[in-house]
Amino acid sequence: MADRICACGCTVPDVHYATCPDFGKDEGDCMGCAPREARDGALICERCYRTLRRCLEDAGDVVGLIRSIADPSKAARYDAVRVQSSRPDLPAPVAADLVDASDDIVRVLRMWEMHVAGEVVPDSVPGLPAGTWAGEAHTIAQSAADAVLEVLDELVNDRDEVLALCAGVIERHTESSPAVWSLADALTRWSFEDRPRWADAPCPDCDMKTVRVQPPRRRGTASRYGCTSCGWLANSDDDGGLWAAHFREEVPLGEGAPHEPRWLTLAAAARHARVTTGTMRRWAEKGLVATKDGRYWQPDINEKTGDAA
Ligand SMILES: [Zn+2]
Ligand SMILES: [Zn+2]
Ligand SMILES: [Zn+2]
Repeated sequence: MADRICACGCTVPDVHYATCPDFGKDEGDCMGCAPREARDGALICERCYRTLRRCLEDAGDVVGLIRSIADPSKAARYDAVRVQSSRPDLPAPVAADLVDASDDIVRVLRMWEMHVAGEVVPDSVPGLPAGTWAGEAHTIAQSAADAVLEVLDELVNDRDEVLALCAGVIERHTESSPAVWSLADALTRWSFEDRPRWADAPCPDCDMKTVRVQPPRRRGTASRYGCTSCGWLANSDDDGGLWAAHFREEVPLGEGAPHEPRWLTLAAAARHARVTTGTMRRWAEKGLVATKDGRYWQPDINEKTGDAA
Protein backbone atom coordinates (compact mmCIF):
# COMPACT_ATOMS: atom_id res chain seq x y z
CA MET A 1 0.00 0.00 0.00
CA ALA A 2 2.65 2.52 1.09
CA ASP A 3 4.37 2.48 -2.30
CA ARG A 4 1.15 3.01 -4.23
CA ILE A 5 0.47 6.48 -2.85
CA CYS A 6 1.88 9.77 -4.12
CA ALA A 7 5.42 10.30 -2.80
CA CYS A 8 4.75 14.05 -2.64
CA GLY A 9 2.16 13.45 0.07
CA CYS A 10 -0.84 14.61 -1.98
CA THR A 11 -4.27 14.00 -0.50
CA VAL A 12 -7.74 13.84 -2.00
CA PRO A 13 -9.85 16.89 -1.05
CA ASP A 14 -12.60 16.13 1.48
CA VAL A 15 -11.74 12.43 1.73
CA HIS A 16 -10.69 11.39 5.23
CA TYR A 17 -9.29 8.46 7.14
CA ALA A 18 -11.75 6.92 9.54
CA THR A 19 -9.50 8.14 12.39
CA CYS A 20 -9.75 11.79 11.20
CA PRO A 21 -11.89 14.03 13.45
CA ASP A 22 -13.61 15.27 10.28
CA PHE A 23 -14.47 11.79 9.00
CA GLY A 24 -18.11 11.68 7.91
CA LYS A 25 -18.61 15.44 8.32
CA ASP A 26 -19.44 17.87 5.53
CA GLU A 27 -17.26 20.62 6.94
CA GLY A 28 -14.25 20.70 9.18
CA ASP A 29 -10.67 21.84 9.58
CA CYS A 30 -9.10 19.00 7.57
CA MET A 31 -8.95 19.64 3.86
CA GLY A 32 -8.66 15.91 3.24
CA CYS A 33 -6.21 13.40 4.64
CA ALA A 34 -6.63 10.27 2.51
CA PRO A 35 -3.61 10.00 0.19
CA ARG A 36 -3.80 10.17 -3.58
CA GLU A 37 -3.05 6.96 -5.41
CA ALA A 38 0.14 6.87 -7.48
CA ARG A 39 -0.07 6.83 -11.26
CA ASP A 40 0.60 3.46 -12.93
CA GLY A 41 4.35 2.90 -13.16
CA ALA A 42 5.09 6.00 -11.07
CA LEU A 43 5.59 6.90 -7.43
CA ILE A 44 3.66 10.14 -7.72
CA CYS A 45 -0.01 10.77 -8.46
CA GLU A 46 -1.39 11.59 -11.89
CA ARG A 47 -1.75 15.22 -10.90
CA CYS A 48 1.88 15.63 -9.83
CA TYR A 49 3.03 13.79 -12.96
CA ARG A 50 1.05 16.06 -15.25
CA THR A 51 2.19 19.18 -13.38
CA LEU A 52 5.81 18.09 -13.75
CA ARG A 53 5.32 17.42 -17.43
CA ARG A 54 3.63 20.77 -18.02
CA CYS A 55 6.28 22.75 -16.13
CA LEU A 56 9.06 21.08 -18.12
CA GLU A 57 7.25 21.66 -21.40
CA ASP A 58 6.99 25.37 -20.55
CA ALA A 59 10.55 25.78 -19.25
CA GLY A 60 11.94 27.41 -22.38
CA ASP A 61 9.01 29.77 -22.80
CA VAL A 62 9.02 30.99 -19.22
CA VAL A 63 12.80 31.49 -19.09
CA GLY A 64 12.75 33.31 -22.44
CA LEU A 65 9.88 35.44 -21.25
CA ILE A 66 11.61 36.34 -17.98
CA ARG A 67 14.77 37.31 -19.85
CA SER A 68 12.85 39.49 -22.25
CA ILE A 69 11.23 41.33 -19.33
CA ALA A 70 14.58 41.64 -17.54
CA ASP A 71 16.27 43.19 -20.53
CA PRO A 72 13.86 44.45 -23.17
CA SER A 73 16.76 45.36 -25.47
CA LYS A 74 17.63 41.66 -25.63
CA ALA A 75 14.05 40.52 -26.07
CA ALA A 76 13.00 37.94 -28.58
CA ARG A 77 9.58 38.36 -30.13
CA TYR A 78 7.01 36.44 -28.22
CA ASP A 79 3.99 36.66 -30.43
CA ALA A 80 0.63 36.83 -28.76
CA VAL A 81 2.14 36.37 -25.36
CA ARG A 82 0.24 37.93 -22.54
CA VAL A 83 2.14 38.46 -19.38
CA GLN A 84 -0.14 38.24 -16.44
CA SER A 85 0.48 37.22 -12.89
CA SER A 86 -1.94 34.64 -11.58
CA ARG A 87 -1.09 35.92 -8.10
CA PRO A 88 -2.20 39.59 -8.13
CA ASP A 89 -1.77 39.65 -4.35
CA LEU A 90 2.01 39.42 -4.71
CA PRO A 91 4.10 42.55 -5.20
CA ALA A 92 5.31 43.22 -8.72
CA PRO A 93 8.53 41.37 -9.49
CA VAL A 94 11.69 43.46 -9.27
CA ALA A 95 14.71 43.16 -11.55
CA ALA A 96 16.56 40.98 -9.04
CA ASP A 97 13.69 38.48 -9.07
CA LEU A 98 13.92 38.19 -12.82
CA VAL A 99 17.62 37.42 -12.77
CA ASP A 100 17.34 35.08 -9.78
CA ALA A 101 14.40 33.17 -11.19
CA SER A 102 15.82 32.57 -14.66
CA ASP A 103 19.22 31.64 -13.19
CA ASP A 104 17.76 29.24 -10.62
CA ILE A 105 15.65 27.49 -13.23
CA VAL A 106 18.46 27.15 -15.75
CA ARG A 107 20.86 25.91 -13.06
CA VAL A 108 18.45 23.20 -11.91
CA LEU A 109 17.57 22.14 -15.46
CA ARG A 110 21.22 21.95 -16.46
CA MET A 111 22.04 19.79 -13.45
CA TRP A 112 19.24 17.43 -14.46
CA GLU A 113 20.38 17.45 -18.06
CA MET A 114 23.89 16.36 -16.96
CA HIS A 115 22.48 13.85 -14.51
CA VAL A 116 20.23 12.08 -17.03
CA ALA A 117 23.11 12.05 -19.55
CA GLY A 118 25.15 10.11 -16.96
CA GLU A 119 27.62 12.94 -16.39
CA VAL A 120 29.10 13.83 -13.02
CA VAL A 121 27.19 16.87 -11.78
CA PRO A 122 29.46 19.50 -10.20
CA ASP A 123 28.46 21.18 -6.93
CA SER A 124 27.89 24.44 -8.68
CA VAL A 125 26.49 24.75 -12.18
CA PRO A 126 26.52 28.20 -13.78
CA GLY A 127 23.22 29.92 -14.54
CA LEU A 128 22.74 32.14 -17.56
CA PRO A 129 25.68 34.35 -18.53
CA ALA A 130 24.95 38.07 -18.10
CA GLY A 131 23.52 39.51 -21.30
CA THR A 132 22.07 36.24 -22.60
CA TRP A 133 19.25 37.26 -24.85
CA ALA A 134 15.79 35.77 -24.55
CA GLY A 135 16.05 33.48 -27.57
CA GLU A 136 19.28 31.89 -26.35
CA ALA A 137 17.90 31.53 -22.85
CA HIS A 138 14.84 29.82 -24.30
CA THR A 139 16.98 27.30 -26.20
CA ILE A 140 19.25 26.53 -23.23
CA ALA A 141 16.34 25.98 -20.85
CA GLN A 142 14.16 24.02 -23.23
CA SER A 143 16.85 21.65 -24.51
CA ALA A 144 17.71 20.79 -20.90
CA ALA A 145 14.03 20.32 -20.05
CA ASP A 146 13.51 18.16 -23.16
CA ALA A 147 16.34 15.86 -22.05
CA VAL A 148 14.50 15.39 -18.75
CA LEU A 149 11.12 14.92 -20.46
CA GLU A 150 12.59 12.13 -22.56
CA VAL A 151 13.30 10.03 -19.48
CA LEU A 152 10.52 11.40 -17.29
CA ASP A 153 8.70 8.07 -17.12
CA GLU A 154 11.84 6.42 -15.69
CA LEU A 155 12.57 9.24 -13.25
CA VAL A 156 9.09 9.17 -11.75
CA ASN A 157 9.52 5.50 -10.91
CA ASP A 158 12.57 6.10 -8.72
CA ARG A 159 11.91 7.46 -5.27
CA ASP A 160 15.08 9.60 -4.87
CA GLU A 161 14.92 10.94 -8.41
CA VAL A 162 11.26 11.85 -8.32
CA LEU A 163 11.45 13.60 -4.97
CA ALA A 164 14.44 15.67 -6.09
CA LEU A 165 12.78 16.50 -9.40
CA CYS A 166 9.51 17.54 -7.74
CA ALA A 167 11.42 19.72 -5.27
CA GLY A 168 13.20 21.58 -8.05
CA VAL A 169 10.35 21.81 -10.51
CA ILE A 170 6.84 21.72 -9.02
CA GLU A 171 7.30 22.68 -5.39
CA ARG A 172 5.67 26.06 -4.80
CA HIS A 173 7.15 28.45 -2.29
CA THR A 174 4.94 30.87 -0.43
CA GLU A 175 7.32 33.84 -0.30
CA SER A 176 7.09 36.45 -3.04
CA SER A 177 10.85 36.16 -3.67
CA PRO A 178 11.77 32.54 -2.88
CA ALA A 179 15.36 31.71 -1.90
CA VAL A 180 15.43 29.32 -4.83
CA TRP A 181 12.85 29.64 -7.58
CA SER A 182 11.20 26.48 -8.88
CA LEU A 183 9.73 26.31 -12.36
CA ALA A 184 6.26 26.24 -10.79
CA ASP A 185 7.05 29.45 -8.84
CA ALA A 186 8.04 31.21 -12.06
CA LEU A 187 5.05 29.86 -14.00
CA THR A 188 2.73 31.09 -11.26
CA ARG A 189 4.32 34.51 -11.39
CA TRP A 190 4.71 34.97 -15.12
CA SER A 191 2.05 33.16 -17.04
CA PHE A 192 1.59 33.34 -20.77
CA GLU A 193 -1.18 31.79 -22.70
CA ASP A 194 -2.04 32.12 -26.33
CA ARG A 195 -5.74 32.52 -26.93
CA PRO A 196 -6.84 30.93 -23.67
CA ARG A 197 -10.44 29.80 -23.67
CA TRP A 198 -12.83 28.50 -21.12
CA ALA A 199 -14.16 25.06 -21.85
CA ASP A 200 -17.91 24.79 -21.98
CA ALA A 201 -17.83 21.37 -20.31
CA PRO A 202 -17.28 21.03 -16.55
CA CYS A 203 -14.11 19.76 -14.87
CA PRO A 204 -14.13 15.94 -14.55
CA ASP A 205 -12.77 16.23 -10.98
CA CYS A 206 -14.68 19.07 -9.31
CA ASP A 207 -17.57 19.55 -11.74
CA MET A 208 -17.01 23.33 -11.94
CA LYS A 209 -17.07 25.06 -15.31
CA THR A 210 -13.62 26.46 -14.72
CA VAL A 211 -11.43 24.51 -17.14
CA ARG A 212 -9.12 26.60 -19.30
CA VAL A 213 -8.20 25.33 -22.73
CA GLN A 214 -4.82 26.14 -24.22
CA PRO A 215 -4.35 25.34 -27.89
CA PRO A 216 -1.04 23.74 -28.97
CA ARG A 217 1.69 26.37 -28.70
CA ARG A 218 3.94 24.62 -31.22
CA ARG A 219 3.03 22.46 -34.16
CA GLY A 220 2.74 18.82 -33.21
CA THR A 221 2.13 19.43 -29.49
CA ALA A 222 -1.07 18.67 -27.63
CA SER A 223 -3.87 21.00 -26.52
CA ARG A 224 -3.89 21.39 -22.77
CA TYR A 225 -6.65 21.60 -20.22
CA GLY A 226 -6.36 22.88 -16.68
CA CYS A 227 -9.01 23.50 -14.02
CA THR A 228 -8.55 26.81 -12.20
CA SER A 229 -10.68 25.61 -9.27
CA CYS A 230 -9.12 22.29 -8.33
CA GLY A 231 -5.88 22.07 -10.33
CA TRP A 232 -6.92 19.13 -12.50
CA LEU A 233 -4.67 18.91 -15.58
CA ALA A 234 -4.64 16.96 -18.82
CA ASN A 235 -3.67 17.26 -22.44
CA SER A 236 -5.43 16.07 -25.57
CA ASP A 237 -3.32 12.86 -25.70
CA ASP A 238 -4.01 11.79 -22.11
CA ASP A 239 -6.42 8.98 -21.27
CA GLY A 240 -6.69 7.78 -24.84
CA GLY A 241 -7.52 11.21 -26.25
CA LEU A 242 -10.74 11.44 -24.23
CA TRP A 243 -10.47 15.14 -23.36
CA ALA A 244 -10.25 16.56 -26.86
CA ALA A 245 -13.86 15.56 -27.45
CA HIS A 246 -15.01 16.47 -23.93
CA PHE A 247 -13.69 20.04 -24.17
CA ARG A 248 -14.45 20.63 -27.84
CA GLU A 249 -16.80 23.53 -27.15
CA GLU A 250 -15.00 26.62 -25.96
CA VAL A 251 -15.96 30.14 -25.10
CA PRO A 252 -13.73 33.22 -25.29
CA LEU A 253 -12.07 34.35 -22.13
CA GLY A 254 -13.68 37.47 -20.69
CA GLU A 255 -11.51 40.45 -19.84
CA GLY A 256 -10.11 39.10 -16.61
CA ALA A 257 -13.62 38.45 -15.33
CA PRO A 258 -14.09 35.27 -13.35
CA HIS A 259 -15.86 32.63 -15.35
CA GLU A 260 -19.58 32.78 -14.70
CA PRO A 261 -21.02 29.40 -15.65
CA ARG A 262 -24.56 30.82 -15.85
CA TRP A 263 -23.66 32.70 -19.05
CA LEU A 264 -24.48 30.00 -21.59
CA THR A 265 -23.43 29.72 -25.21
CA LEU A 266 -26.26 29.99 -27.74
CA ALA A 267 -26.18 26.22 -28.30
CA ALA A 268 -26.14 25.50 -24.58
CA ALA A 269 -28.89 28.05 -23.92
CA ALA A 270 -31.13 26.54 -26.59
CA ARG A 271 -30.48 23.03 -25.26
CA HIS A 272 -31.21 24.19 -21.73
CA ALA A 273 -34.56 25.70 -22.73
CA ARG A 274 -35.36 22.90 -25.23
CA VAL A 275 -35.96 25.46 -27.99
CA THR A 276 -34.20 26.19 -31.27
CA THR A 277 -31.28 28.60 -31.42
CA GLY A 278 -33.53 30.90 -33.53
CA THR A 279 -36.09 31.06 -30.72
CA MET A 280 -33.38 31.79 -28.19
CA ARG A 281 -32.10 34.67 -30.33
CA ARG A 282 -35.62 36.08 -30.64
CA TRP A 283 -36.06 35.95 -26.86
CA ALA A 284 -32.82 37.88 -26.52
CA GLU A 285 -33.92 40.47 -29.12
CA LYS A 286 -37.17 40.99 -27.19
CA GLY A 287 -35.12 41.55 -24.04
CA LEU A 288 -36.51 38.46 -22.32
CA VAL A 289 -33.05 36.96 -21.92
CA ALA A 290 -30.00 39.09 -21.16
CA THR A 291 -26.94 38.57 -23.37
CA LYS A 292 -23.28 39.44 -22.97
CA ASP A 293 -20.45 38.71 -25.38
CA GLY A 294 -22.68 36.35 -27.33
CA ARG A 295 -23.73 34.42 -24.23
CA TYR A 296 -27.16 34.02 -22.69
CA TRP A 297 -28.11 34.48 -19.05
CA GLN A 298 -29.40 31.23 -17.62
CA PRO A 299 -31.59 32.69 -14.80
CA ASP A 300 -33.58 34.66 -17.42
CA ILE A 301 -34.02 31.47 -19.45
CA ASN A 302 -35.24 29.65 -16.35
CA GLU A 303 -37.78 32.40 -15.71
CA LYS A 304 -39.00 32.29 -19.31
CA THR A 305 -39.41 28.52 -19.29
CA GLY A 306 -40.91 28.47 -15.80
CA ASP A 307 -38.03 26.48 -14.38
CA ALA A 308 -37.62 27.48 -10.75
CA ALA A 309 -33.94 26.41 -10.65
ZN1 LIG B 1 -9.10 14.38 7.41
ZN1 LIG C 1 0.85 14.02 -5.99
ZN1 LIG D 1 -11.68 21.08 -11.25
